[in-house]
Amino acid sequence: MTRKTREGTFKPRKSDSRGRAGACPDLARENVMRIVSVSGTMSRLAACVEVVSILLVSSAALAAPQLVLVNAKVFTADPALPYAQAVAIEDRRILAVGSNEQVRALTGPNTRILDAGGRLVTPGLTEAHVHLGVALPTPPIAMPNLPFPGPNAEQALAAVEQAAKTRTDWVTAYIGPLIARDRRNWRKALDAVAPNTPVFFRAFWGHTSIVNSEGLRRLGIYKEIIDPLGGWWGRDEAGDLDGRAYEAAETITPRIRPATAESLAISLGEAQQRYARWGVTSIHLMNNDKSLEVTLTALAIAKPLQKWTVYSWGTWETQRIPEAWAAIDRVEKQTLPKVRVEGPKWIVDGTPIEQNSLQRSAYVDRPGWHGRSNFTDEQLREILQLALARPTQLALHVVGDAETDRVLKLMEQVAPVAIWRAKRVRTEHGDGIGRDVFEKAARLGLVVIQNPTHLAIPPIAGKKMLDHEIVLKGFVNAGIPLALGSDGGVAEQNPFLNLMLAVLVPSDPSEALTREQALTAYTSGGAYAEVQDQHKGRLAPGFAADLAVLSQDVLTVPTSRLPATTSLLTIVDGEVIFEDAMLTSPH
Ligand SMILES: [Zn+2]
Repeated sequence: MTRKTREGTFKPRKSDSRGRAGACPDLARENVMRIVSVSGTMSRLAACVEVVSILLVSSAALAAPQLVLVNAKVFTADPALPYAQAVAIEDRRILAVGSNEQVRALTGPNTRILDAGGRLVTPGLTEAHVHLGVALPTPPIAMPNLPFPGPNAEQALAAVEQAAKTRTDWVTAYIGPLIARDRRNWRKALDAVAPNTPVFFRAFWGHTSIVNSEGLRRLGIYKEIIDPLGGWWGRDEAGDLDGRAYEAAETITPRIRPATAESLAISLGEAQQRYARWGVTSIHLMNNDKSLEVTLTALAIAKPLQKWTVYSWGTWETQRIPEAWAAIDRVEKQTLPKVRVEGPKWIVDGTPIEQNSLQRSAYVDRPGWHGRSNFTDEQLREILQLALARPTQLALHVVGDAETDRVLKLMEQVAPVAIWRAKRVRTEHGDGIGRDVFEKAARLGLVVIQNPTHLAIPPIAGKKMLDHEIVLKGFVNAGIPLALGSDGGVAEQNPFLNLMLAVLVPSDPSEALTREQALTAYTSGGAYAEVQDQHKGRLAPGFAADLAVLSQDVLTVPTSRLPATTSLLTIVDGEVIFEDAMLTSPH
């Protein structure tokens, strides 16, 4: 068999009895340029990696690369060639991955050659779950003991009383689980210390807000208010508002001061800079507390550095379930380069922190209370059916194990397994997928986006938050695709802190990922979770040239040093979005 090449004829060796290796073409250095121009050699080359260790784009019109990185430890997240020494980039894509000699042989007079000094080169990281632009409407007052367990009632009320003496605008504060779980009538308690000043507390993890009477008055919220889709107002025994707002009702910030595109552009722009210094090249933004229009306008102002996937918020100003998809349709023409809109994301239950996620067993310190769902079976079925009828992905915040059971059962009722597998439903936080339903979750093609910071939540008031452990390695072993994200917003977004927690799992070290598994989840896992795994998330020929050169080898550095990792060079679609002078200085 012979194949036509640009430079002549290339004749692979005949297959012999030694197996696969013998069937591979001889890719000695002098042959590289010729092989590059062979059409349709990709799968053949992929089969021969153990011999030749180079993968190249096959293209009839091949230009010399614009940039090559040599002398690197290249982690590709590509099973066909997991490690290499060098990468070539041309026209926004990976052109070749291989040995120093092989990749150097591709360079032309205009190629920038960067010596990585033996450092780790990885596909750009994907932050697969973050909340940005969610600041409180006024600067929050200081509260002790945040995040866990946060202030107790006496501390919070004393702080509000003090602040109310000098402020007429909203007194706002973040609260922790102690207050979120304190069942007193918070409206009356806050009215006693701040009768004329509006007060708004927000749980730092969302899901729960508290407002006093003056606050409710300014918001125009009265006893007659009807619960929103997917949320509810807390009430006392007489049916009066008790100041609590849960789930879709707790979106108080935009009622006080809606985000403007200009202000949001500043926080998204700052986030892009932070993420560029961590080697993050894709960001999955959970778009709570603001409309898609405002977020897209803000990204246009900020000018996207990374690739943004904005997960539309299911219950944003939505009273009927189909409106969530209508909101996505409305922005279809507004799409920017490097920005995609997906979702909607629905918050199906709460969390164990405020004790509203739906659990199989009752909460340990609240006999008989299992949490609650935000949607009826009928509503959830409508969400699932509409998601299948539409092209965008479905993302579900499902945290309780009983809530997960319910979602899986309804999915099976609504459509055959094969249809769900193609849909790739995201479960934001896999905290509640019981081991006994792993098999079912894998069959339905569920993708888990886990947030390692959740693995470090300490016991609250001496009690573990859940009676079951949070799983990480178990997902990988069960064949459930895993992506990692920080769930930051107010909290820490550092992917390398999350990487450290993922390889430690302090609460249950048997669930710890290996370094490679964690880095894979942060790279190709993130791309899979947004159905972009054919385009990005790996360093393989033809994939987007999204990569980072890291300051230290996160596959080998002592665990405690992981959070200090930075990127020295971050590239998105072949374009340098961050470069540290350290990279090229002598070392
Ligand atoms: Zn979240």
